[in-house]
Order: sequence, then structure tokens, then C-alpha cells
Amino acid sequence: MTSLMTQLVHSGNQNSGVRPVNPPLERASTFLFDSVHDIEAAKKCRFEPGNIFYGRLGTRNGYAFEDGVSELEGGSYSLSVPSGLAACTLPALAFATPGSRILVTDNIYDPARGSYSKFFARIGVEVVYFDPRIGEGIADLMTDNTTLVFLESPGSLTFEVQDIPAISTAAHARQALVCCDNTYATGYFHRPLELGADIVMQAATKYIVGHSDATLGVVTCKNIEAYRELKEAANWVGYSVAPDITWVAQRGLRTLPVRLEQHQANGLAIAEWCQAQPEVATVFHPGLASHTDHLLWKRDFTGASGLFAIQLETRDKTQAVTFVEALELFGLGFSWGGYESLALISDPRSCRTATSWEDDRIVVRLHAGLEQAADLTADLEQAITTAFR
Ligand SMILES: *Cc1c(COP(=O)(O)O)cnc(C)c1O
Repeated sequence: MTSLMTQLVHSGNQNSGVRPVNPPLERASTFLFDSVHDIEAAKKCRFEPGNIFYGRLGTRNGYAFEDGVSELEGGSYSLSVPSGLAACTLPALAFATPGSRILVTDNIYDPARGSYSKFFARIGVEVVYFDPRIGEGIADLMTDNTTLVFLESPGSLTFEVQDIPAISTAAHARQALVCCDNTYATGYFHRPLELGADIVMQAATKYIVGHSDATLGVVTCKNIEAYRELKEAANWVGYSVAPDITWVAQRGLRTLPVRLEQHQANGLAIAEWCQAQPEVATVFHPGLASHTDHLLWKRDFTGASGLFAIQLETRDKTQAVTFVEALELFGLGFSWGGYESLALISDPRSCRTATSWEDDRIVVRLHAGLEQAADLTADLEQAITTAFR
């Protein structure tokens, strides 16, 4: 069996005949069939993986990309959706019903908290948030009508790592499904499906696309029954992903491992550097021995990506603004996972309900891009000097 790195380089490619290196981009809403019999046969299978019926329900470029993601995540079936946020909500669209309960980690991606708290609560789903470090204690929140447990490990703002094996055991004892947002690590560094989760999703917008030029979500599961439910739910709400986007994302998949290795090296280098600065109170990076969940991370992850946060000593927003605005190599912007470095002032106090974040010192989230690490630390140093020294 070849390594994942090799599989991703070759995934979805034709391997005989005179052919382009890359799968051709095939755009279509309508596909033509030779007979009514063929149309009816395709319609019957419209929620099956690989079926070509109508553009919205799947394209050859989409399926080729999804097969690559299934390899990446160690799953069997994947489904693309228009954004990472759509991937956060699709499992609940498919598996929550009015009167059912879903359990959601308190460190969830904040816009998804909006979807759960506003949309799903409005249609009668009971949404209960829990401490990301709850572990097997989640058993106390499980009820017979709990259908889904939603994790994000590590949290992409505050970096708590969740104990997927313990949480999955407790959930499965009550027939609930476990879904994990794996955007931070991707299957290259973390395999929730192998740790016990039933569904894994990610914002392909981030590391898979890798160049900050498309939004895309992808959901992966182990069994065909779950895939059919997810695909049917995606169709209820009319999701459709253009083949152009999955084509670009498949190109990203091929270079994902090498990029992630560099993001990891740069992230660790600048996190360690930050830890040594008197202006930095805490560094939230699960790969550092000082991180609360470092041992859990070491048990379940094979690497860290380029995203982490620092808590400054200062409570003075103006000073923090001066710091981030003085950065020259780190852009100011949302999202992450592209080749570029980014900085974002964030406020964890505003995005939690099951736990509290009391510390009011300013948090800055950093994304280490693919630049030289020494250039990034030099940039941080000049910005710290400008703002604080
Ligand atoms: C960005 C992000 C999302 C949402 O992705 P979009 O493509 O921007 O909708 C979901 N989860 C996590 C952890 C993210 O960082």
C-alpha cells in the first residue's frame, strides 16, 4: 500500500492512454442519455456515490475530488457542499429532528454556533453546548433522543483538543452519531473516523484549497447509509458545487501534505519564538509541551498545522491594533489555510456559553504561511518593538 502522500498525488487520474496529467474539467448541468431506460436507471440511483444524473447531484470532477478526500480522511464516502459552514450544518440537517437533542462543543466555529443556536433551535432541535474537555463526562448529557454530537478538535480559536475515543464510546452507547470538524489538521495529521467518529467534515476552503481563492466544504463518512442521508439532505436544501471548484480543490489535495509539513514547521518555530517574548502571556498551540492538551494531541494527532493563538500581556486594544497593523508579512483577514500568513485579533469571551473565558488580555490568532520561518519571526519582532518596546 502506497503512502497517503503518494495516493493524493495520483488520486483521480486516468492511468493509461494519451491523457492530460490532470482530469479534464467537465462542466454540465444537463447530461444526455441514450435511452429513457438509462435516464430512469440513473434517477433511481441519484443519491448513490459516483452516479451521473444531473449537475446538482454530482459531477465527475466532484466525485474524483471526493474520492481523494475519502483517502485523506480514511473514510469511504465523501460529499462536497458549497462552504465549510454548509459542511458544519449538513450532519444536523440530515440527522436532527424536531424534539431531538444535539450536543455541540463550546469551541465550535462561531458562525456554526449561529446556525445551531438560531436555525436549529428555531425548528425545535434542542442544542446543548458542552465543555470541549468533557471527555467521557459527555455521557451525563446523552439522552435517548440525542442524535448527534458535534466536535471541533482542536478548536480553531482556542485550540482545545477533544477526546474523540471517549466521546464516541459514550455517544455510541446511546446510538448517537459523532461528527468532528477536522479543518485544523485534515486527515493528514488527524483521523477522527479511525478514533471512533462516524462523520468528519472540513472547510476545504482552508488547507485543501490552500490558496485562499475558493470556498468549499466536504463531509466524509464510513458507511453508505450515512452518505445517502447526507446527500439527500444536501439536495433538500439545494446544495450544488461547481466542478471548477472541486477541480481546484483536487489540485490542492495533491500538494496538501508538503504544504502542511511546512505550515507545521513554521507554526512551531514562530510559536516557540512567541513563547519566549515577555509581551506574550500564553501561546495556544497543541504541539507545545506547555499546552493543556498536549498529551492528548500527541496520542491522537501525527502533526500540527500552522494555526495557533497568542494571548498578549496587554489588555489595551489600541496597543494590540498597533501590533497587528505593524506586521508586514501577516495579512489582516478572516479564514486561514492558504499559503499566506495571517493575524486576527479575536475575543474568545464572546463565543462560548458552556464554559467561560475570564481572561481579558488580548488574543491574536496567527496563521503561519509558507514563508521562511526566520522572516516571520523577524516580522513579529519588529511589530512587537513598534507596539510595545
Ligand atoms: C473556516 C471554517 C469553517 C467554515 O468554512 P467556510 O468555507 O468559510 O464556510 C468551518 N469550520 C472551521 C473550523 C473553520 O475554520
